[in-house]
Amino acid sequence: MHAEYNRTRSIFDLPDRKFYRPSGDVDLSVTFCGNQAANPLGPAAGPHTQLAQNIVLSWLAGSRIIELKTVQVNDHLELTRPCIDIATVGYNTEWSQELRLDQSLREYVKAHMMTEILERWLFGPSNNGRPTNLATVFDVSVGYNLAGIRSTAICDWLRSMRDASKIIEQLRAEIPSEFAEWSDLPFKPEISNSITLSTFHGTPAEEIERICEFLLTEMDYHVIIKMNPPMLGKDRLEHFLYDLLGYTDIEVNQKVYDVNITFTDAVAVVRRLQATAARCGKTIGVKFGNTLEVVNKGKFLKDKIQYLSGQPLHILHLALVDEWRKAFDSEFPISFSAGVDVNNVADCVSIGLVPVTVCTDLLRTGGYGRIPQYLSALERRMKEAGVKTIPEFVRSVNRTTSVSGGKVSGDQGHSSVSEILSRSLKNPRYRADHNLKSPRKIGSHLFLWDCINCDKCIPVCPNDANFSFEIEPVETHYSNVTISDRGWTESPGGNFIIKKSHQIATFADACNDCGNCDVFCPEDGGPYLEKPRFFGSLESWQKWTNLSGFVLSVDQQGLVLQGRFKHVECSLRLNEGTGRSEFVFDGCTITVNTRDAKVVAATLQDGSVEKQVDMRYYYIMKTLLSGMASGKGVNFVNADLQEGLKTHA
Ligand code: SF4
Ligand code: SF4
Repeated sequence: MHAEYNRTRSIFDLPDRKFYRPSGDVDLSVTFCGNQAANPLGPAAGPHTQLAQNIVLSWLAGSRIIELKTVQVNDHLELTRPCIDIATVGYNTEWSQELRLDQSLREYVKAHMMTEILERWLFGPSNNGRPTNLATVFDVSVGYNLAGIRSTAICDWLRSMRDASKIIEQLRAEIPSEFAEWSDLPFKPEISNSITLSTFHGTPAEEIERICEFLLTEMDYHVIIKMNPPMLGKDRLEHFLYDLLGYTDIEVNQKVYDVNITFTDAVAVVRRLQATAARCGKTIGVKFGNTLEVVNKGKFLKDKIQYLSGQPLHILHLALVDEWRKAFDSEFPISFSAGVDVNNVADCVSIGLVPVTVCTDLLRTGGYGRIPQYLSALERRMKEAGVKTIPEFVRSVNRTTSVSGGKVSGDQGHSSVSEILSRSLKNPRYRADHNLKSPRKIGSHLFLWDCINCDKCIPVCPNDANFSFEIEPVETHYSNVTISDRGWTESPGGNFIIKKSHQIATFADACNDCGNCDVFCPEDGGPYLEKPRFFGSLESWQKWTNLSGFVLSVDQQGLVLQGRFKHVECSLRLNEGTGRSEFVFDGCTITVNTRDAKVVAATLQDGSVEKQVDMRYYYIMKTLLSGMASGKGVNFVNADLQEGLKTHA
């Protein structure tokens, strides 16, 4: 982070100009489960909250209530890939964390510590002299049934999130020297004290109630229950989806109507839980809500069932908020995540929803960089309403007298929801015919080098796995080298041509093959599949023997790039002292003048009588190695080598 920011004024490819800096004209702070947050917005539990860098990116862009990706006792998931398709409205076949429980814990604690350091480094009083409220809340998401949640593994995990002192001390030792100034910070040991509960579709009402009781009373957490759209009932849900919005191509999985908790049962469960929560001084709330289970009729995702998000889900969950507000007379805290974007975020906040979280829209072009627009839209609406605080904003819209912690008190609370729902139903942007267009494809296919350089694949990746790097364009004719026990000879090879200096690569350790960059890339093939794939360590490069890819390291003699092309492994070492490079390929060692690529020696080591080396691979390796060493960009591959790069660039 330090090297990248100092060289390029960006962190994880998010430029400084997209870091959210509040105008200071209005106060966006809210209370969520008794915790102060500087604003009510953030990423929903999902692809944007899996890794520490995702959480940091959303925080830099302005998120202040961060729903961490769901954890569960089964932490060995095998998911089909790709798993995200946002070409139109939004579908996924994602599930919970793809990391082991202990890895997730470390990612969350690391993110928490990183935001505390960044707060001081980037937004401290020395930077702009103006105090800024950066209060941030992490909300745990846990699933999926009582047995799993009561398991020792999950209970220990939840206790560690309440007191992460031990992990903080382990991670403190890893704080790099650039941030030494903050290595003694008294990091807050409590990472989270609230849980958003996700249950299996079909979990019985009694089980949901027992899980909540357990989390409230025995685990001492505030609890928010994530609700599913089928609570609207089949007739109402399908009336919205088909008759009013026109999504007649979407087929709801009919099973969900039989197995999901009904609205009436959910209300009864929550009313009983209110008494339990009050007894132990905790909050019970609901979240609208979960994705909708539908039949997969597309080709991009592979599972038979997929989960719908985006614009239609926004309407379905607004309808549920409307119902819930009527049932609870506006007294109940509700968090919201369904098709939230720059156009509707202020409306969501105006009806007292806390937090308002986003997933699908952040997967679109611009990625995390869209968050500051939501906050600006909210600030603008508040200024137009002539209010200074969120409670005043909610009061002005709802004509109520009391707003606190996401609760809107007063008779008018629900009528504003009804009004927004009916306005949204008339708005063409939620209708099917406005959401048919996939991102434009231009008919060309990606390959290792040179593309149209739109850079869309970088911000749409939730994990910042795609990155750009700079090279010297090349146009050369190369010779192949034939080696035998009689010596070596050169013979005509081919042309090696790279036209552009700006190139794209993927950091394999951060890529989970979700497929989102493929959807938004104007060319075919998928950047994560076609572009050079770099691994972060020799260990991970050796683990994925079925994948072509590269790993960069530096030792006393210089930089070394190891590569695998299908199943053939090779390496290229730059020796600064001799000005020569040593290229090892398939049992042959070829020494080359680094400056002019002239072959000066070649030997055969694997006992073969004769072998020919296609020197195209040497040029590929040389170009990649120089690109990483150029020091023009900082990325996951070369960040650790910055000191080495100063010497070898
Ligand atoms: S790989 Fe695709 S999305 Fe990425 S820069 Fe090239 S054309 Fe654009
Ligand atoms: S590089 Fe592409 S496939 Fe990989 S995680 Fe990022 S968006 Fe998904």
